[in-house]
Amino acid sequence: MGDYKPTSTVSPAPAMTGKPIENEATDPQSAVLYRQLRQKPLNIVGGRGSYLITDDGQEILDATCGAAVSCLGHSDERVHAAILDQLQKIPYCYSLYFTNSAAEDLSKFLVNSTGGKMSRSFIVSSGTEAVEAAVKMAIQYFTELPTPQPQRINLISRQSSYHGNTLGSLAVGHHVARRAIYENILSKNVHHVSQCYPYRNMQSNETTESYVARLAQELEDEFQRLGPDTVCAFVAETMTGATLGCVPALPGYLKAMKVVCERHGALLILDEVMSGMGRTGTLHAWEQEDVVPDLQTIAKGLGAGYAPIAGLLINKHVVDTLTKGTGAFVHGQTYQGHPVSCAAAYKVQKLIQEDNLLANVRAMGEYLGQLLHERLDSHPHVGDIRGRGLFWALEFVQDKTTKEPYSPSKTLAWTLHTAGLKPDYSISLMPGNGGIDGKNGDHIILAPPYNTTKAEIETIVDRTARVIQEVLG
Ligand SMILES: *Cc1c(COP(=O)(O)O)cnc(C)c1O
Repeated sequence: MGDYKPTSTVSPAPAMTGKPIENEATDPQSAVLYRQLRQKPLNIVGGRGSYLITDDGQEILDATCGAAVSCLGHSDERVHAAILDQLQKIPYCYSLYFTNSAAEDLSKFLVNSTGGKMSRSFIVSSGTEAVEAAVKMAIQYFTELPTPQPQRINLISRQSSYHGNTLGSLAVGHHVARRAIYENILSKNVHHVSQCYPYRNMQSNETTESYVARLAQELEDEFQRLGPDTVCAFVAETMTGATLGCVPALPGYLKAMKVVCERHGALLILDEVMSGMGRTGTLHAWEQEDVVPDLQTIAKGLGAGYAPIAGLLINKHVVDTLTKGTGAFVHGQTYQGHPVSCAAAYKVQKLIQEDNLLANVRAMGEYLGQLLHERLDSHPHVGDIRGRGLFWALEFVQDKTTKEPYSPSKTLAWTLHTAGLKPDYSISLMPGNGGIDGKNGDHIILAPPYNTTKAEIETIVDRTARVIQEVLG
């Protein structure tokens, strides 16, 4: 090996082996592994407010903020400036032995936003990683109690839930399609109970109270079946997002589940990756429930898509246990507390506060719900319209009385999404399917940005209704 020579900051052009590529982004032989390998998605080259702009100049109304991510829209220059400022200060430092002001500011903001109930935050880059960290923290917590309980290795979560896509988080969730081919290598310590899904699962002779009591009994029975002192935690989305389509918990449901956990000394992990950070009208979705989680995951709206970022918020009593115990979380990642991501998210969160956007989420959310009901309640194939804040879903059925879903082969939700992208409508709707049993059930989600307006809500509802009209008549 010769002497090290500093390289130029401009990397050399790659060697050309075939025909020169005029425009790499539009070449039919793309190098990107698309979600659908044989289908090239639209190429987004710009954004303005709630609109995405394609390379053909089509302006698409992003009625879902991607996956409930871009909650400030796509072009907030105040966030750009905060990112640039942090880049110029320091883009990266290693959390094993350094901290940085952006991570400190963001974490302080997050802890204060819970009234100190959660006393530390652990910042990572995706919702999946936050869920992994939550599970590892829960397991470690029980090894650090004055009387350690290492036998607590079982987790209970819910059917038709989504908690991420790595092997660990995929095992926690119950997204049947995403699990199927990996089922044999998924961890066997996760057990699934029913969702709180009144549209389909509450019986006609049940009240809210008796339905909730039945679900609490089911959780209790699962604890008993596994051995109550072997259960580490119960994991649930505070408001179920992608898999079922925006199903708020019934009053008293989460409280009843927490009571079961407390009875047996297990932790409550609330996954607010999608429903949190303001999406449902309060910064934390649990503020609208009578519960405080032991561990909480946040992600999508946290950085509004300006940077990849997620977090685990840790209840004070869990932090105290670790502090008195080994004093170190047996977990960590290279990009933990990334300065640029933290600066982006901190600015996003300050703007949500300064612009009073949570009030707008509540007001516009109510308006969105009202217009959806006015326009679509009478539609013969819209079975259920539900949501909270700016987080709404429409569930489709063949028959409203029997609630019979469409055949999965019709790929209805995806068809609605595709129709929405046509220039006639130019709206991006988030499709979901399999909510009922992993295969059946179609819904679309609407999740506009927190700074949306009345006029924009009217456009969203009008375009959505016309897309449904085209696909379902
Ligand atoms: C999206 C989502 C995840 C996974 O987050 P990624 O950022 O995609 O890894 C986890 N939990 C819930 C509830 C989600 O909606």
